[in-house]
Amino acid sequence: AGFVKLGLAPQLVQAVADLGYNDPTAVQAKVVPLAMDTGSEGANRFVDLMVSSQTGSGKTAAFLLPVLHTLLMAQEKAEADERAEYERAVAEAAARGEEPPKRARRKDPTNPRNFKAPTPGALILCPTRELAQQVANDAIDLVRHCRGLRIANVVGGIPYQVQIARLQNANLVVATPGRLLDLQRSQQLKLDQVKFLVVDEADRMLDLGFSDDLAEVNQLTIERSQTMMFSATFAPRIQQLAQRVMREPQRITI
Ligand code: AMP
Repeated sequence: AGFVKLGLAPQLVQAVADLGYNDPTAVQAKVVPLAMDTGSEGANRFVDLMVSSQTGSGKTAAFLLPVLHTLLMAQEKAEADERAEYERAVAEAAARGEEPPKRARRKDPTNPRNFKAPTPGALILCPTRELAQQVANDAIDLVRHCRGLRIANVVGGIPYQVQIARLQNANLVVATPGRLLDLQRSQQLKLDQVKFLVVDEADRMLDLGFSDDLAEVNQLTIERSQTMMFSATFAPRIQQLAQRVMREPQRITI
């Protein structure tokens, strides 16, 4: 019930109910409404957020829910536009006394000649493979009622061919920086359509030496609409990172 008030799509509210969550945690109640579109009528005005929160606070759903909500809204709008376009074409054909046009057929995705590098709309960076897998699993739980939203996990240790197959049509990628940049450099993945970037456990990210990788991902996704950074602390080096990758971030302390 508490999740309805956050303004989330019904498919996501249902998923949260399925997981047995009754009310948003403190970090969810603060982050979810702030992270969603603040422009009127989908004007695409998103604020950058820098959030201090610990593991166990519910921080994963705090960033997944608004990102999935926005991806879902964009997908529903694209489908409605496509439907309206088709219906217009049918009406025009009927007015001319012609046969209705055929719907565009999807290309066979298993044919290697149809390979197109995936262009995810959202990217979540995690410091470790274990965390990335856990975040991806949480995302999969949350999209169970969202037809057509696809999650991919990009981490070291998975054979490249398996990874590339799973990336097809991914909307949201949860990754560790090393493997992500490998796939980007070999053109198996394009990051220039990323609208939402989340850096989870930013402090551990720096501890593990991912500073240069973060700078590179920042450049590769420079056209994005929103960045969220989560960290256990706001130590000076985290603030420096925040200054480099965010614009006037709003700070949230739980
Ligand atoms: P996290 O801080 O993201 O690692 O989440 C810690 C645990 O809290 C996870 O096992 C979640 O499944 C659970 N959790 C997240 N949000 C809620 C909620 N609103 N109500 C109850 N449990 C939750």
